[in-house]
Amino acid sequence: MKLPKARELVEAVKALIVGPYTSKFPKKPHTPYPSFRGQPKYDPEKCVGCLACELVCPVEAIGHSDKTNGKESKRIMYHYTDTCIFCGSCEQACIADNEGIKLSNDWELAFFDRSQAFETIEKELQLCELCGDVIACKDHLNWISERIGERTYSSPTLYYSRMASLGVIDENIISALRDHGRSDRIKILCARCRRDTTLTTR
Ligand code: SF4
Ligand code: SF4
Repeated sequence: MKLPKARELVEAVKALIVGPYTSKFPKKPHTPYPSFRGQPKYDPEKCVGCLACELVCPVEAIGHSDKTNGKESKRIMYHYTDTCIFCGSCEQACIADNEGIKLSNDWELAFFDRSQAFETIEKELQLCELCGDVIACKDHLNWISERIGERTYSSPTLYYSRMASLGVIDENIISALRDHGRSDRIKILCARCRRDTTLTTR
């Protein structure tokens, strides 16, 4: 029979006095260290829906879908918790001062149904007032406008979307006339419609 080493005997006696080294999980909840890199979480208030995080994610753990049914135009951002490798690239790339998505210390990732292993947030979309194509999320347009300050006036789309978000202009009035000509320039337009209405001779 192999006898225990002196170090092992010391550890065994210590464990008898101070208790076991392991925790009683799951009876007792586990609290990770503050610097633990757990699954990233969106902050719906700070995220502007720019998709930079989706672009940089190395494992495609972030996705989105745009729903443009009538008045309900929204972007749904997905974070797939079963694919994420907690690398933190999304947080690093986040244009909202790295606070739109942040690594948390949430480590509990067990699911009974793997198809449910995702989290979502929703952002309101701005559509082109002529063709209905997606321009960007409204919060993203406001974010750009805040960054460039008075240069917002050089872009009618930024300017009008800013005014609309402040409730200064009535969307019904600016959308009333649709002649795909000069009068349509005073609208929130995608790049293609902006070009078409600017180059038209009507
Ligand atoms: S932590 Fe890394 S893997 Fe996970 S969503 Fe962010 S970029 Fe993708
Ligand atoms: S604001 Fe940040 S979290 Fe939101 S979509 Fe852009 S990069 Fe992702």
